[in-house]
Amino acid sequence: MSSDRTVVVNVDDHEPARYARGRMLRLAGFTVYDAGTGEEAIQLSAERQPEVVLLDVHLPDIHGGEVCQRLKNQEDSPIVIQLSASAISAPQATAALNRGADAYLIEPIDPDVLVATIRAFLRLRNAERALAAANRELSEKNIQLQSLNRALMRSNEDLEHFAYVASHDLQEPLRNISTHIQFLERVSAERFDESERRVFSFVVHGARRMSALISDVLRYSRVGRDLPTLKPVDLSEVVDWVLANLSESLAEAGASVTTEGLPSVSGDFVQLGQVFQNLLGNSLKYRDPRRPLHVEISAEPDASADWLIRVGDNGIGIPAEYLDRIFRPFKRLHGYEIPGNGIGLALCRRIVEGHGGRIWAESTPGEGTTFLLTLRPAQAAASQD
Ligand code: ADP
Repeated sequence: MSSDRTVVVNVDDHEPARYARGRMLRLAGFTVYDAGTGEEAIQLSAERQPEVVLLDVHLPDIHGGEVCQRLKNQEDSPIVIQLSASAISAPQATAALNRGADAYLIEPIDPDVLVATIRAFLRLRNAERALAAANRELSEKNIQLQSLNRALMRSNEDLEHFAYVASHDLQEPLRNISTHIQFLERVSAERFDESERRVFSFVVHGARRMSALISDVLRYSRVGRDLPTLKPVDLSEVVDWVLANLSESLAEAGASVTTEGLPSVSGDFVQLGQVFQNLLGNSLKYRDPRRPLHVEISAEPDASADWLIRVGDNGIGIPAEYLDRIFRPFKRLHGYEIPGNGIGLALCRRIVEGHGGRIWAESTPGEGTTFLLTLRPAQAAASQD
């Protein structure tokens, strides 16, 4: 075993004992400096920065206990093993250890035990240093992470603000354009020839689409800006409200909706209404023309005591590779033969995550899609108030 770089200061005023111990330590591979007094020990330690000091208690100038205390007061202090030539009482040994000594050994000490003890302390010291270095690295990483997080939050807020202001301010000139287009349509449409009429219909269509897109961006960024006020909300009331809103479209499609065991959750009534309105609206839009639409809405507690809500339909389904992407803003799997801007599910995700929950989808193409969302139980909201 090589300990050649380990520096040991060997302090003892009794020369033969110091010599014998020094020899044995050198043979074991340590670099050893000898000191005969307390002052010498302190000076040598300052010069040589030893890893270990073997310190006799009885020294001619300064008491070994005080030498130990002075060594231990230094930064990155050495391991101090105090040695006593005579048996001492337990209180004396305790006092020495309380002054900072790492161990207290009583002569005669078997040389192998002394070397093994020094090595055991060195292992401990190395482990301590590795731990301290890992801790330092961890806290530096933590600080970096916190500042990254702050930067991310700032840029997120900026982006949010930008989207809000941009969509809000764009509405005004667009309203102006739409008004003038309507005016043109009223006064000049009959004078248009066939191709002019076609061009004009592109303009009207473009303005309508732009207006719908802008108001969707505005809706989306509003949900990000206004955090929901969480209160106990009865989900069956939310669903009833949405079913009333959609009653005509549901009846036209000959659709049936069943609900089962809907609980009270911690939420914002209007925002949760938007979620169910989007999900049911999608079930209607993406129904399979070969069978009447059926939607099942149910709830059960999940493993973390939140509510797991399922909204399942028997519509056209979604291919597996799109199940994640459909929650991105403006991501659509269809052309404009089915109306929509691709913001509905992105909005649902924002709302559900703003409620501390998650939303995802499972589907079998050709058979149907189930949207799953988690929401906190109402008690959680009540105890937060
Ligand atoms: P939009 O309906 O306006 O396109 P959404 O964000 O609500 O936007 O939905 C994104 C896409 O996910 C839709 O374009 C559609 O392809 C798919 N989708 C959503 N809900 C369903 C559903 N119930 N069944 C099949 N496909 C769906």
